[in-house]
Amino acid sequence: MVEKLTLGMDVGSTTSKCLILRGGKDILATALISAGTGTSGPRRALEKALEQAGLRREDIASVTATGYGRAAFPGADHTVSELSCHALGAHILEPEARTVIDIGGQDAKALRLGPEGKLLGFLMNDKCAAGTGRFLEVMARVLEKEVSDLAGLDEQAAGMAAISSTCTVFAESEVISRLAQGVEIPDLVKGIHKSVAVRTASLVRRLGVTPPLCMTGGVARNAGVVRALERELGAPIRVPSLAQLAGALGAAYYGWEKEREKA
Ligand code: ADP
Repeated sequence: MVEKLTLGMDVGSTTSKCLILRGGKDILATALISAGTGTSGPRRALEKALEQAGLRREDIASVTATGYGRAAFPGADHTVSELSCHALGAHILEPEARTVIDIGGQDAKALRLGPEGKLLGFLMNDKCAAGTGRFLEVMARVLEKEVSDLAGLDEQAAGMAAISSTCTVFAESEVISRLAQGVEIPDLVKGIHKSVAVRTASLVRRLGVTPPLCMTGGVARNAGVVRALERELGAPIRVPSLAQLAGALGAAYYGWEKEREKA
């Protein structure tokens, strides 16, 4: 039983994440496809992870789906809320973390965890694109860059061009007009990152900043946002290497716990 294989599928708004776990601890494969709910992304992520591990679907004891599009994912044995899976995944990746900041494609969450990873409280912004990965995607497009280029550009900044608009649409127009004025792209990127950090920091402060802090979700891959958030909160933030896969890991682990209960 302990060696049973479980698969976690995090069907996000922008990205499908899949992870295969053996015995609740060994990660056999991970897959990330830049296409989220309502696309072929989840199926492709599943196929890629199975192929990577040299497995077939029948080898998997249980599939647990989480994320925004979890209900639309066919063939899941369990569907679990994103909050539970992110809390579980973050606790496995960073067992000491007490505050988890998760910024994904269309929402931002702040979670407070107990010593055993129990979810003690949370706050969420899922009403507004500002302060989420979507905001960064929109800005990257205006700058004719990829989101993966933003951290490097931030590092090159000589100063910071502050973005005063809090709404994504107005901020987009603001960036366009600053570009027309000849403001350097790296300085604009730094201002964009600060804008995301200010919004996220206010969410985290309302929940309470209990160290150690850890960041998960795709935006954690952007070191420029992480540094800006550290400056806003005045505290270091740990970023696990599998930050974007935290939800999928939590889902796979949930499936394994269910298998253990059955045994
Ligand atoms: P969702 O679950 O809603 O699909 P994710 O947690 O997968 O969201 O995060 C998606 C976001 O992560 C994107 O909007 C983008 O801003 C960011 N992102 C993804 N890949 C990278 C990368 N390589 N570098 C920086 N940011 C990234």
